[in-house]
Amino acid sequence: MISIQNYIGGRNIDPVNKKFLDNYNPATGTVYGQIPDSDAQDIELAVEAAKKVQAHWAAVPLEQKCDILLKISTLILDQLDALAEAETMDNGKPLWLSRRVDIPRAAQNFKFFATALMHFASESYFSPPTTFSTIHRVPVGIVGCISPWNLPLYLFTWKIAPALAAGNCVIAKPSEVTPLTASLLGEIFTQAGLPDGVLNIIHGTGPKAGNAIIMHKDIKAISFTGGTSTGAHIARSVAPMFKKLSLELGGKNAAIICNDCDYELMLRDTVRSSFTNQGQICLCTSRLLVQSGIYEKFKTDFVQLVEALTVGNPYDPNIRQGAIVSQSHLEKISNAVNRARSEGGIILTGGEILHPEGMGGYYYKPTVIEGLGPDSLTNCEEIFGPVVTLQRFDTMEEAITLANATEYGLATTIWARDTNTIHCLSEASEAGIVWVNCWLIRDLRTPFGGVKSSGVGREGGWEAMRFFTEAKSITQKMA
Ligand code: NDP
Repeated sequence: MISIQNYIGGRNIDPVNKKFLDNYNPATGTVYGQIPDSDAQDIELAVEAAKKVQAHWAAVPLEQKCDILLKISTLILDQLDALAEAETMDNGKPLWLSRRVDIPRAAQNFKFFATALMHFASESYFSPPTTFSTIHRVPVGIVGCISPWNLPLYLFTWKIAPALAAGNCVIAKPSEVTPLTASLLGEIFTQAGLPDGVLNIIHGTGPKAGNAIIMHKDIKAISFTGGTSTGAHIARSVAPMFKKLSLELGGKNAAIICNDCDYELMLRDTVRSSFTNQGQICLCTSRLLVQSGIYEKFKTDFVQLVEALTVGNPYDPNIRQGAIVSQSHLEKISNAVNRARSEGGIILTGGEILHPEGMGGYYYKPTVIEGLGPDSLTNCEEIFGPVVTLQRFDTMEEAITLANATEYGLATTIWARDTNTIHCLSEASEAGIVWVNCWLIRDLRTPFGGVKSSGVGREGGWEAMRFFTEAKSITQKMA
């Protein structure tokens, strides 16, 4: 059994209340360890630890901050194997995916913001002949970072790296469902020379530990990634406290597939964009909008490729799809597909819970559904699993109407060759991110985030550095 502790003031310690929660391995459905069931008392300890060191960390010279964050990046890569195995055990994703994507990206997040902090600059304005204004970017102070279970270390570090780079102290909570890799970071931070108390990791549930973070009066900014309803709760709760708030929320992303696209490239990447990480990426395409000229061919070819996706033991290198993250999420996916059936949807493939031999655990067959319109609940509500729908369109106007027909607005993928088509679809798409003839290519300098119910604010590059700092205008009148 693995016993996880909170990391506060540079030390691993039990929660004050001495209560723990079971943690499950989704591949086998068995308990593998326990995590603290932290509450407001632990958040208080973390804030006290952060207060002691906040002024010091803010004043540490840029080169020194950069060196520490680069060291963290290197140490994460040094421990790639152990971290990847931990991520897969906790989340159920294929080991090859943890090794190739999740852990390298966590290292890259630190490398990116280590170097970003050396170049982060602010404006100045001269009004001749007498007035000179400079804008200082000062750390917010103590900030809260709350992340979800789907890309555990990847998204956890995507928040804490810029928060630290900008000179803040951090109180961070990973998802209670996937705490393991975050718990292994404490040792890395200490080895890298991060001063004690600059980064504090608290484990526990959202309603208890998470809520105590968002409600703490000395935590001045909240960076949250998770579901839209949790985001709405956080926005309502912190509004009267005037905290800075960054919300990265759910999605129901469309892929618009036009007759003239590079068919083979599109087909291969659309399988990937629909089912990578068991469809549990906020950027996955879950509504495939296909132009009539290629609809029938696409349907046949796509279903054939989806049926070839192997599902099972995430440690097996030949497996393409691992386990769903938890029993409750598996039930949510299964219920959503049953609802699609009752709405009149035709299940072209999948639509069932799987029981790979000798595994136990939580597995769902990759599922393709057709026959449902844009108003169906299946096409409106986020499922966040290996389930996609097909819809047909003829004109570009129809494509745009379908693409924009949800409350979400995170990402749209466009598959087309004609440049006018690409331009029109990109402009008309109500989404924070548009990929053209590709999917999930991330330049970390670009703003990341959604519109409508997919969130408020942007992460990435200078956007993140601006979020984690306050602008102070200093205007001087020359004599
Ligand atoms: P949740 O909203 O359930 O949880 C996200 C985090 O918030 C977890 O750490 C959770 O803790 C915590 N939390 C839950 N309730 C509260 C609360 N009342 N106060 C403070 N914190 C709370 O999302 P999931 O973990 O289920 O993640 C899936 C969702 O995340 C999907 O909707 C997906 O689209 C979205 N997502 C968005 C991304 C984006 O960039 N836009 C990227 C990745 C995912 P705990 O788990 O311990 O309950």
